[in-house]
Amino acid sequence: MIRAGVIGLIIVLGQVLAPMVHAKPQLLASIKPLALIAQEVAGDRAVVDTLLPIAASPHDYPLKMSDHRRLRDADLIIWVGPELESFLARALANIPADKQLPSYTLPNLHWPESPVSDGHNHAHHQHVGGDPHLWLDPRNAGVIAQVLVQKLTQLDPSSAQSYQANAARFIASIEQLDQQLSLQLAPVKTRGFAVYHEGYSHFVGRYELHQVGYVTYTPERRPGAKHLKELQDVLKKEGKCLFVEPYYQTDSMKAIVQSLGLRLGMLDPIGGQQVSSYKELLENLGNSFLTCLTDVAH
Ligand SMILES: [Zn+2]
Repeated sequence: MIRAGVIGLIIVLGQVLAPMVHAKPQLLASIKPLALIAQEVAGDRAVVDTLLPIAASPHDYPLKMSDHRRLRDADLIIWVGPELESFLARALANIPADKQLPSYTLPNLHWPESPVSDGHNHAHHQHVGGDPHLWLDPRNAGVIAQVLVQKLTQLDPSSAQSYQANAARFIASIEQLDQQLSLQLAPVKTRGFAVYHEGYSHFVGRYELHQVGYVTYTPERRPGAKHLKELQDVLKKEGKCLFVEPYYQTDSMKAIVQSLGLRLGMLDPIGGQQVSSYKELLENLGNSFLTCLTDVAH
């Protein structure tokens, strides 16, 4: 009898405690930059996880069975939208819309003023709409943070004040970051460069940098010989630097850089393992541009 009573008590306690243990909202961000923004708002009042491994391309990723389970288990999934993570569209069709936060369609986002010139005035392929790498404009990180406050508050109303305070602090810090980047990058505004894939227009547009071309539109598409020839022509005329990315083959880029006497830079729009905050991600990008585009003193 006593034992049954103890077991009964444990069961009752378990039932009482279980909801408390699981009370923290579980957020799942598709890619690291969105997770970093979510972490700022969540603080310790929600668990933030990232779906994609660091080295995976957000443009094209084969979802595993365990990924589908993580998507089902999350209270809120934060992603850009089918414009970027096209591989998620089908998986998310089975998940209620109120458990999703696609950021591409948020009102108040900032978009680059005009499409980045690819150096020979071609219209931009079959892509419709804007560059989906929208987190590369810090003001957009603020827009996402504000919507996250609403979403998180619905999931955990008792933490509303905490989410609001976190978001306010984050938005103030990225306003400062935005000003800092404007000042830092002003001296190199006229220096021409090309990027590896066409994913930087939010950053390039915000800081009025002089991008003259790209190697490939998306990382999955191999550039044609004609395009590479045109790229080399424009870089020869007004290029200082060619930026590659950490996870893509760069041997042919190194050859272009050598033959044209350019500098080779590195841009990481996702942020590697060591990047621990949104601010750091953007500071690293800013430093990469600055280092590659600044003239070396003789
Ligand atoms: Zn991309």
